[in-house]
Amino acid sequence: MSITTSNPNKELQGFSLIAAHSHISGLGLDDNLQPRENSQGMVGQLKARKAAGVILKMIQAGKIAGRAILIAGPPSTGKTAIAMGMAQSLGSDVPFTAIAGSEIFSLEMSKTEALTQAFRKSIGIRIKEETELIEGEVVEIQIDRSITGGHKQGKLTIKTTDMETIYELGNKMIEGLQKEKVIAGDIISIDKASGKITKLGRSYTRARDYDAMGPDTKFVQCPEGELQKRKEVVHTVSLHEIDVINSRSQGFLALFSGDTGEIRSEVRDQINTKVAEWREEGKAEISPGVLFIDEAHMLDIECFSYINRALEDEFSPIVIMATNRGISKTRGTNYKSPHGLPMDLLDRSIIITTGSYNEEEMKQILSIRAQEEEVELNADALALLTKIAHDTSLRYASNLISVSNQIALKRRSNIVELEDIKKSYILFLDSDRSVQFLEANSDQYID
Ligand code: ATP
Repeated sequence: MSITTSNPNKELQGFSLIAAHSHISGLGLDDNLQPRENSQGMVGQLKARKAAGVILKMIQAGKIAGRAILIAGPPSTGKTAIAMGMAQSLGSDVPFTAIAGSEIFSLEMSKTEALTQAFRKSIGIRIKEETELIEGEVVEIQIDRSITGGHKQGKLTIKTTDMETIYELGNKMIEGLQKEKVIAGDIISIDKASGKITKLGRSYTRARDYDAMGPDTKFVQCPEGELQKRKEVVHTVSLHEIDVINSRSQGFLALFSGDTGEIRSEVRDQINTKVAEWREEGKAEISPGVLFIDEAHMLDIECFSYINRALEDEFSPIVIMATNRGISKTRGTNYKSPHGLPMDLLDRSIIITTGSYNEEEMKQILSIRAQEEEVELNADALALLTKIAHDTSLRYASNLISVSNQIALKRRSNIVELEDIKKSYILFLDSDRSVQFLEANSDQYID
């Protein structure tokens, strides 16, 4: 799953939004769509997860067109987590874009442009391409300690046809590969410390020679016989990326800076036509992703009309909105409505509700978060953190995990104990205490 955020100015909000949900890999349902109590990083919220699973089936059967999903519930009850779980279940290259309603109101672009970009970021285009393999290209890499004779270290095999996985092995290695012009069939060694690449030959038979190398040496074999073949490469890009690359005034570098500015509608029309052509010719497939709009009540009536229209479009992503508001005014109007959404959009929305967690569920979620952040909490620390979550919010308690870990590390302990949690609770205020503090010292602040 590729994840993007749509904040036109800074990517920060989206970034923390995603990191907070990195433990979620699906909705945690069994084959009959029954939610498991604790699965794929998901705990509790059984009814909402089951409902999300049913919607997922509708999406997969192509029966969701023209409709949106609204998740309504109190803060920190897993609305974003459920949207994330749905996106994860749709597939690994399905785009997931998360924005907050308030982000749409930026000075740099109009509301509708910001929304259009968010929509188009959430539509994946799978482009199939046949490419000729060129000499020097690394087709597949295997790192296999067992070729040292089997008696050293474990076995580590990495097979890859794209450069991304290779990246994980370190930039040094990539530089080395390029410098040495490794070709398929070669065996090379990579010294982990220096990143130095040595070409060893072109067959496994010399494996015994490698025993002389240190335990930190890695071996890479690029398989034989791949050189002359043509291979099919599938890239998934978002419609927005295609827009930016083809928008002459911005240039593709804008993709990296996030500063894309407004994109002319002619450019988008041309791209829509082109993509439709590719689809006809079997060169591309459209994979609708998920656009998650948090704080949907922050949008105004113009944004809602835009969404209403965009949902009808043949290129629409799956739109999931979240709100923690009850009956409130729709921005830009004088009317009150459920969740601050206009009636016509509510009418076409499927509504899921989330409810508060009990302490046991909070404890399990905090414990999963601690594992995800590689922080060890002892039982007392976890119990106190759970109590804090119950009295303040799950999100606040969750944030204290890494803070407490820093405090523990300062006293040279790898285990977070009760005192570390207490200290972080005193150091960092939750919103209620922050309000109390402001009220008590109101004369010192500017109104
Ligand atoms: P808000 O209304 O404030 O945006 P929210 O309802 O979207 O809140 P989340 O952000 O999803 O709440 O939840 C807060 C934290 O708790 C996140 O780290 C989230 O991943 C985690 N979390 C919430 N519910 C669950 C759950 N059922 N299982 C696992 N983790 C969860």
